[in-house]
Formats: sequence, C-alpha cells, structure tokens
Amino acid sequence: MKRTTAGLEAALAELSRAQLRRERTTVGAFAAPGNRTLVLVGGREFIDFSGNDYLGLAHHPALSAALSAAAAKSGVGSGASHLISGHGAEHERLEEELAAFTGRERALLFSTGYMANLAVLTALAGRGERVLLDRLCHASLIDGARLSGATLRRYPHADAEAAAGLLGGADEEPAVLVATDGLFSMDGDLAPLPALAHAAGASDAWLVVDDAHGLGVLGASGRGTLEHFGLSAREVPVLVGTLGKAFGSFGAFVAGGRDLIEHLIQRARTYIYTTALPQPLAAATRAALALAQGESWRRERLHELTVRFRREALRAGLPLGNSSTPIQPVLLGTARAALAAQRALAEAGLWVVAIRPPTVPAGGARLRVTLSAAHTEAQVERLIGELERICTPLLRSECAAGASA
Ligand SMILES: *Cc1c(COP(=O)(O)O)cnc(C)c1O
Repeated sequence: MKRTTAGLEAALAELSRAQLRRERTTVGAFAAPGNRTLVLVGGREFIDFSGNDYLGLAHHPALSAALSAAAAKSGVGSGASHLISGHGAEHERLEEELAAFTGRERALLFSTGYMANLAVLTALAGRGERVLLDRLCHASLIDGARLSGATLRRYPHADAEAAAGLLGGADEEPAVLVATDGLFSMDGDLAPLPALAHAAGASDAWLVVDDAHGLGVLGASGRGTLEHFGLSAREVPVLVGTLGKAFGSFGAFVAGGRDLIEHLIQRARTYIYTTALPQPLAAATRAALALAQGESWRRERLHELTVRFRREALRAGLPLGNSSTPIQPVLLGTARAALAAQRALAEAGLWVVAIRPPTVPAGGARLRVTLSAAHTEAQVERLIGELERICTPLLRSECAAGASA
C-alpha cells in the first residue's frame, strides 16, 4: 500500500479491524505516593500488574533524592555527547559500579537498551558475516542485526542444539555472534545459557546476552541470569543490561572486557552521535544499584509472590506459560480473547495488558502479568480471583470456536 494519507488511513482501519491497533493510556499521578502498584487512569484507581518495576524501586525516595541533588549540582541536561563534554562524574562512577556489580573489566552507559543493542550488533558484526538470534529475542537485537548488514539467522526459541547446528564451520564460515535475551520479556522463561556459551565458545563466536529482565531479579545477589546459571565473564563476554526495569531508573549499559568497551566508544554510532544520558539519572541509578544489592529481601519477596501466584493460578486452571520468574503470561490465543480479558480486568480495577502480534507470534496473544516486590499478598489474591472469573469462560468459548472452525 502506498503511504499517502489515504493509504495510512486504510492501513490503520485494517489494524483496528484485526483488533491489532495499539492504544496509549495516560497514567495519572500515582494514587499513593511511593507506591507504584496503584495507578490512576481517567481518575480511577487500578492495581498495576503490567510494569517492569520488579523490585519496587521506581518510587523509592532515595532515587528521587539522588536525582534532585545531582540536578542541583550538575544541571539536568548533559549538554553534549560523551565524547564532547557531556561525560560527567556521575556517569563515570556508575560505570565503575556497574562493572564491579557484573564482575567485568568495564561498563559503558547508553541512553536506552534499544541503543545499546544497536551498538553491540553493529560494532561486532558486518556485511558478509552471519549472526544468530533466538526466534523470540527482543526487537532491538533484530534491528541491530539488520543495521549491521550481517546475514541474520534465527534459531527456534531456546533451542541451543539448533543454534549450535547453525553456528556452522564445516562448509561455511562460522557465525560471528549469537545473541539472546537472558530472561525472555514476553514468556518469562530463561535462555539455555550454559549450552549456548559452550557452543559459541567452541566456534569462537561472541555470545551477547541481553539481561534486561534478569538483572536485579535473578541470582542470590541480583546479578541476573548469568548468576542464576553460574556463568563467568569469559563464558558470556558481552552483557547488556537496562536500568529502567528492576533498577527503577532509566538508561542501559554494556559490560565486558576493556577492549570491547574501547571498541564501542570508538565505533558505536548510538554512543557517539547522541547526547549523554542526564547525570541526575545516573545518580538515581547509583542509589537504585545500592538498594538492589543491599536489600535482598526485595528479591526474596518477589520470589515468594511469584511462587504463590503460580501455585494458585494453576490450581484455578489458568493457562500459564513455563515461567518461574515475575513475568507470568496467561496464554489466551487470539487477540480478541486477550483484549476482552484486558477490558474485563480493567472493569474490575486491575491493570493487566494484552500482548498481541507482532510482539508475540500469531496465536500467541496473552495477558502479560508481572509481579513486583511492592505488591501485597491481598493484591495478588485479588488478581487470581479475577483472572479465574474472567478467563475461564473466555477460554471455553475460544475452544468452542476452534472446534467449530
Ligand atoms: C526493555 C528491553 C530493551 C530496551 O531497553 P530500553 O532501555 O527500554 O530501550 C532491550 N531488551 C530487552 C530484552 C528489553 O526487555
């Protein structure tokens, strides 16, 4: 379809017809200051089970205090890119702390995880080379691979054996890089990192793990999916982390060896040609990092709530995914069913969002439930009760529709 105004209008109408049109919601001031589990939408209060603030840090007073103090001292905007005059003391300290936290020689800050992934892929792969990605990996890894000019191959989700097969070497040049999410954002399951690390290591390919959802959440000290599996910096040479999820702030980083980071500084266009992340955000992230490390009760509580949710939701017969993490998909199949469930839950005062294609594969529409250490047991009980009341009849009619089709 030509992208004239009329063409755009027709394309949008088609999205609406297929129940795939996305809508934004303006979220009002939080109903209870300091408590991110309640949101106000259109003057009504909802319990939020849709965010990525897993440790309940986004509204922590220590973060806002650090942010205000840094803004008073160094201003709000960085005023320039890191290589001109935008790189400040808060950036430098946060990078050192992130390197120590992840057990790597260096870390490099980016404004977003999206940009960090574009940087890694374009800096480590290029035309005439092959890169391998998990079929369900984050969009930013796919876009990075496309931008790199390398040939992109995707292996079946979480299938390390298939990845090893595609790495090649016998009759073609081995792939130069394998990239995956650590903890998958829409399914809540984990990548088979030990086997991927083994395969990548054996053919001398870079293994890139984007642990946006695992950092802060998994592992005894919150070091993420790598800590969960006991993997070293040698086994996973490139780690991407984001700061807007469990750390409750904003921004992202790449952690790795000295030469890798220096190469990114010299070559990565999403690092070089953009204004540096505001220093107050780096200061807030430092406060969050200290809390995430010091207050392990947040991780323990999150884990307890997750175990409770799964136990009771499975007892209620809800179709959960194969996830033991705070991301708990309720698999409803069609976009129509997922949207109907989202609307009915909203009626009941619960904010849970339907995820539809193309974010998930066709037939994989779902409610994406996420838990936070800030939720109460009573809130989780209420969620399970409403999910059972709303989803059970929807699933029954989906089955009936499937059987008669
Ligand atoms: C959220 C996310 C990103 C993007 O991070 P931003 O900082 O929000 O741009 C990248 N990868 C994964 C797996 C994510 O979930």
